[in-house]
Amino acid sequence: MENLLKELDGTSCRCGLWKHSGHTLCRECFRSLPFRMRDNLYLLVGNGYTEAYKKASEHLKRTGRWSHLVE
Ligand SMILES: [Zn+2]
Repeated sequence: MENLLKELDGTSCRCGLWKHSGHTLCRECFRSLPFRMRDNLYLLVGNGYTEAYKKASEHLKRTGRWSHLVE
């Protein structure tokens, strides 16, 4: 949770590209998500955001944008 907040605040996406502070992902990663997953990332932390983040990150790993993060 704390890491998520730090990441949200930061300006670097986990794929390595620049992102806006306050956004979860860079534009490229965000655009590669299905619409439903995008919407869920607007939920508040503690109100489903953690779950939405997990789903998005799984999707990005599976589809290759974050493949370097797969152990
Ligand atoms: Zn990205």
